Amino acid sequence: MRILVTGGSGFIGSNLVRVLLAQGHSVICLDNNYTGRMSNIEELLDNPRFTFIRHDICNPLISLPELCPQKGVIDQIYNLACPASPPAYQGAHALDTTRTCTIGVFNVLELAVAHNATILQASTSEVYGDPLVRPQPESYRGNVNTHGIRACYDEGKRCAESIFFDYARIYGLKIKVIRIFNTYGTFMDPDDGRVVSNFICQALQGKDITIYGDGHQTRSFCYVDDLVTGMTATMNSPADFTGPVNLGNPNEFTIRELAEKVTARIKNGSQVVYHDLPQDDPQFRCPDITLAKTRLNWAPTIMLDEGLERTIEWFARCLNIKAN
Ligand code: NAD
Ligand code: UDP
Repeated sequence: MRILVTGGSGFIGSNLVRVLLAQGHSVICLDNNYTGRMSNIEELLDNPRFTFIRHDICNPLISLPELCPQKGVIDQIYNLACPASPPAYQGAHALDTTRTCTIGVFNVLELAVAHNATILQASTSEVYGDPLVRPQPESYRGNVNTHGIRACYDEGKRCAESIFFDYARIYGLKIKVIRIFNTYGTFMDPDDGRVVSNFICQALQGKDITIYGDGHQTRSFCYVDDLVTGMTATMNSPADFTGPVNLGNPNEFTIRELAEKVTARIKNGSQVVYHDLPQDDPQFRCPDITLAKTRLNWAPTIMLDEGLERTIEWFARCLNIKAN
């Protein structure tokens, strides 16, 4: 198949692109490289089945010569384009985040209509906001602050889901919506700013481990290989299965427990320090994956201890530091 991955030079995208190429597909990776990096895809540029297009999805895609249907039909589109790390999507970038999740999503959907492609949206557990139920099933409608510092992302992604389902209803477009829970692993940027990359890179460099708040808030961490398996399973699922479907690892850990796991593995003299908890930081996050298990026969196989080992190796290589 000919497959477009927007956001393909980012963390999840560059893992997904590698799997799709290994499966024999032709892959077009489109990215504005805001948080993505050429180094994530550099070794793929010589592959004749791989094309990179530098482009912002907030500008129309349909007018790009490489993407016009006459140049070749696109069978599937994975829409991953959107910064995912709070420091990257908030603040000065907040309006770009909202634009990417709305105007950008319209542009990618218009391309899907022109190609009659199946299109998958990378939605997020953030649609549940600071959840009042635990674990969170897809039927939970969430608890989002509409005007807080996370709203550009949370409400942006909620709006994107709504646009996707209206395209399916109005144009008969074949859509899939996945709600991704905290994912980590190879090809993460050391400067990404999320908790797993921060803790591992801080520990490798012997710097303070920065816990925000008291560290009792929880997250459920999914290794990226498991996530990518769930993404391709969703994309290739029967047409009547649209989601939204939760994809994540249901094992829940406090942020303190994560810090302990990292410092137990990397002994470079780091101390844990406590910083203020950012506004609207969710207290709990844990996916109910019953739907993914029953409809996709999918469940994660790589647990946190093994995933951390692999991710420590990745960051040690990135930073050119020996993990001990
Ligand atoms: P990432 O920041 O590494 O990747 C996002 C990619 O999108 C980057 O390469 C970035 O340059 C690109 N991008 C951003 N805005 C763009 C635009 N307007 N036009 C073109 N490209 C643009 O983040 P990630 O963790 O790989 O996340 C990928 C997707 O998965 C995102 O949509 C994110 O919301 C979603 N997601 C990720 C997680 C997670 O834990 N990693 C959790 C929930 C949802
Ligand atoms: N966090 C932390 N220290 C860091 C980075 C993040 O304690 O250096 C906390 C953050 O406040 C949140 C959790 O870890 O409670 C997960 O944060 P991340 O940014 O990885 O993802 P998200 O909040 O979007 O789930």
